[in-house]
Amino acid sequence: MYRQILEQAKVDAYLVTDPMNMRYISGFRGGEGVLYISPSRKVLVTDSRYTEQAGKESDFTVIEENAGHKRFVILAECIDADKAEVVGFEDASMRVNEFNAMKEALPQVKNWVALGGKLDFLRRIKTPEEIEIMQKATAISEAALTSLLDFIKPGLTELEIAAELEYQMKKRGANDLAFNTIVASGIHSSMPHAIPSEKKIENGDFITMDFGAKVNGYCSDMTRTIVVGKASEKQKEIYNLVLKAQLAGLAAAGPNVKGKDVDAVSRNIIREAGYGEYFGHGLGHSVGLFIHENPRFSPAEEDIILPGYIETVEPGVYVPGFGGVRIEDMILITEDGYRNFNHFEKNLIEL
Ligand code: ZN
Ligand code: ZN
Repeated sequence: MYRQILEQAKVDAYLVTDPMNMRYISGFRGGEGVLYISPSRKVLVTDSRYTEQAGKESDFTVIEENAGHKRFVILAECIDADKAEVVGFEDASMRVNEFNAMKEALPQVKNWVALGGKLDFLRRIKTPEEIEIMQKATAISEAALTSLLDFIKPGLTELEIAAELEYQMKKRGANDLAFNTIVASGIHSSMPHAIPSEKKIENGDFITMDFGAKVNGYCSDMTRTIVVGKASEKQKEIYNLVLKAQLAGLAAAGPNVKGKDVDAVSRNIIREAGYGEYFGHGLGHSVGLFIHENPRFSPAEEDIILPGYIETVEPGVYVPGFGGVRIEDMILITEDGYRNFNHFEKNLIEL
């Protein structure tokens, strides 16, 4: 499928420098190097730290770059052998200084073509293997959260809770974290992406935990908000509103709808309840090798959602000075709707 890019982008060859795309296309997980793809060759250039690994993981021709045979020399050899004049590159991940250096080192290229998101697009529809891995990553994160319900108590800091959550995920087989764990308590919970701090948990606090495990490079992503002690009437009102919006968003998710139309269903519920100004972010995003991928469930998303996409549904209401709630599940879009990877309780938990 990555060969089609040559025709689509009308290029003689193209380079892949984004580590996720490099991995997706070649199988090489090291993340350091560059792929060169043309109709007649597929080359993986990396250094001695990775050449053995690359040879095992990838069916690309592995060429080692070193002081005597530098990257641009190797690329020049490929380009000259192919007589390639029009070459694609990943403008979304390459730095300007890297692009300038490449342009200068490879003057035989007459036209550099920015590929934009063309390669990321290949990653949208998940294979059965990818789906299985992401289901496993979700199961690990849910089991970790279950174990945390006995752990959380007043007096612990947000950082201690985050550390325990991360430990429990790794203990259960997560190779890594999908992203920096968010644990936001009390008034901190009104900041959607609050950084865990030394703030101690107090009775009556909301605690929003947004976290994910990485398994074989693939991410999971989930959020639950709980209350320590008894929830107040206002906490219940906000929680139940977010839950209603989340369930409605899930019901609207499925194949052949625009991302923005799914977003609108949840957003309208929150707006009609008078909390519209407190839901600033999009309803959800695609997930895969990277935590935030396209297409999204957002007011601006014109793309059609298709079977095989994995998306999150995560409305939130964040009231400054009071606190906030977010509930997030990760779902697989299917031919007739969706399959939810998450099974963790969604009614308000009072610890
Ligand atoms: Zn999340
Ligand atoms: Zn998310």
